[in-house]
Amino acid sequence: MKLILFDCDGTLVDSQNLIVSTVEATFAAHGLAAPPRPAVLGIIGLSLEMAIARLLGADAHRADEMAASYRTLFLARRATEPLEPLYPGARDVVTRLSERDDVLLGIVTGKARRGVDAVIGGHELLDRFVTIQTADDAPSKPHPAMVQQAIAETGVEPRDTVVVGDTTFDMEMARAAGAGAIGVGWGYHPPHTLPDAGAETVLSSFHDLPPWLDRRWNVSEATRNIIGEGAA
Ligand SMILES: [Mg+2]
Repeated sequence: MKLILFDCDGTLVDSQNLIVSTVEATFAAHGLAAPPRPAVLGIIGLSLEMAIARLLGADAHRADEMAASYRTLFLARRATEPLEPLYPGARDVVTRLSERDDVLLGIVTGKARRGVDAVIGGHELLDRFVTIQTADDAPSKPHPAMVQQAIAETGVEPRDTVVVGDTTFDMEMARAAGAGAIGVGWGYHPPHTLPDAGAETVLSSFHDLPPWLDRRWNVSEATRNIIGEGAA
């Protein structure tokens, strides 16, 4: 059995407009100048407190109160703004992969479980994922705990597990857990930064994922067979 763990923001859904505008409103509510958009995109994927602390820099001691404000503002905005859109191909590829007998799907995200339920549930894809690991139950990426917990829940080997994500945090998390790391080029970290963080490849389209995985897995099966015969 294989396990594919997807990051959420920047990988499955394009949530940048809602997140950036909520960060701007949060900083304004606390009398602070908003950080530039590239800085905000750089922290999407971390857990909220860590993300805000990085944006605050020397004022990081205010991260907890600012994170509380962000949550309140985000929930209010989510109720009125359109649902964050899925990236092109995400629905089709997730649906087809979830129907395979040799594959399990999961989510590993810095969002809270409530946020995953809202956006992935809003797109009616929650039941495609057999394990969902969030900031509620684990330390922030790049700590490997979310991947390790997904592996423990499903019983799949780390070497048969891959993480699909848009940030260096995802790649580092995957490697630290002994899993494969697959970067996507449509998210929030510059694609060229992902290989140095451990990405085996950086995909440019969601539709490239299934054939790429099949090639990866065929190669690794062949390698195992050769090693197995040599040892026999
Ligand atoms: Mg992401």
